[in-house]
Amino acid sequence: AKLKGRGQVIYFDQRLHDELLHQHRLSDRLERALENGELMLHYQPQVSAVSGRVENLEALLRWFPAEGAPVSPAEFIPLAERSGLIHRIGDWVMEEACRQRAAWREAGLALERIDINFSGSQMNGADLFARLDDCLSRFGLGPRHIGLELTENVLIEADAHVLEGLERLHHRGFRIAIDDFGTGYSSLSYLKHFPVTALKIDRTFVRDAPERPEDRAIMEATVFIGHRLGLEVVAEGVENAEQLTLIREMRCDLVQGYYFYAPMAATEIERLLAGPAAP
Ligand code: C2E
Ligand code: CA
Ligand code: CA
Ligand code: CA
Repeated sequence: AKLKGRGQVIYFDQRLHDELLHQHRLSDRLERALENGELMLHYQPQVSAVSGRVENLEALLRWFPAEGAPVSPAEFIPLAERSGLIHRIGDWVMEEACRQRAAWREAGLALERIDINFSGSQMNGADLFARLDDCLSRFGLGPRHIGLELTENVLIEADAHVLEGLERLHHRGFRIAIDDFGTGYSSLSYLKHFPVTALKIDRTFVRDAPERPEDRAIMEATVFIGHRLGLEVVAEGVENAEQLTLIREMRCDLVQGYYFYAPMAATEIERLLAGPAAP
């Protein structure tokens, strides 16, 4: 290896130092944000690929700091995973999604589930499933009302205890979707062992499908294997009509993306679902 000048070494050290400091501060702010109620859930509709009708919602976490710009979950979730704050954040998400689902049932909104995202480090904690059950029963909700989204890496890395918990949920009729399907490093054989009800095709495939036959081939194969295994197949990140046409031809079941709806606040969901039925 080439010897680096002294100045350069110091430069990299400084950058690393700054980055760590930034993360540390953000982590502190996030903890206070949780306590001060700066976190909220937005909801993105999943629509039927055939009818365009809204079927379910995916809950997506939002952080609007009292001061400063919104911070993306793509930035603060990994941070929360490293600091351990993900457990409290995950509990808050569970609680808030259940509260909202119950409120919308009272209001008579035409809606199936709210799906929530679970990260891997969140599942390592003790009694996550007991807390989920507790939350559901406090709000009088059943397996139809809340679904889970997990990435395939979460499933692969899950220990026996977690898998058992998921299996029990699955058995009781909970929907469990594999998020970002096709982007992990595992073989397909895990599909026959794991309690799964749906596959969500990652949005990078959807994005490139119109230009790239390889991406179309992977999507077609996903729909094929998903349906053969009796799973529902969802395409995420649909942004234009061209992508939608392909997805319909492939016979995906559900579609999610800016082409239909961006994630939105609960009040906007209410306006959407209470409004006049689409023709
Ligand atoms: P994800 O679960 O894969 O969520 C989909 C992401 O794609 C969301 O980003 C959503 O806003 C975005 N999206 C939706 N439609 C489109 C589209 O048409 N085009 C494009 N380019 N993007 C679209 P978001 O909300 O920034 O969330 C990023 C990630 O943060 C999520 O990826 C998920 O991994 C994580 N996350 C969000 N909320 C939670 C949560 O409550 N708990 C956990 N553990 N993770 C969460
Ligand atoms: Ca997701
Ligand atoms: Ca995803
Ligand atoms: Ca993702």
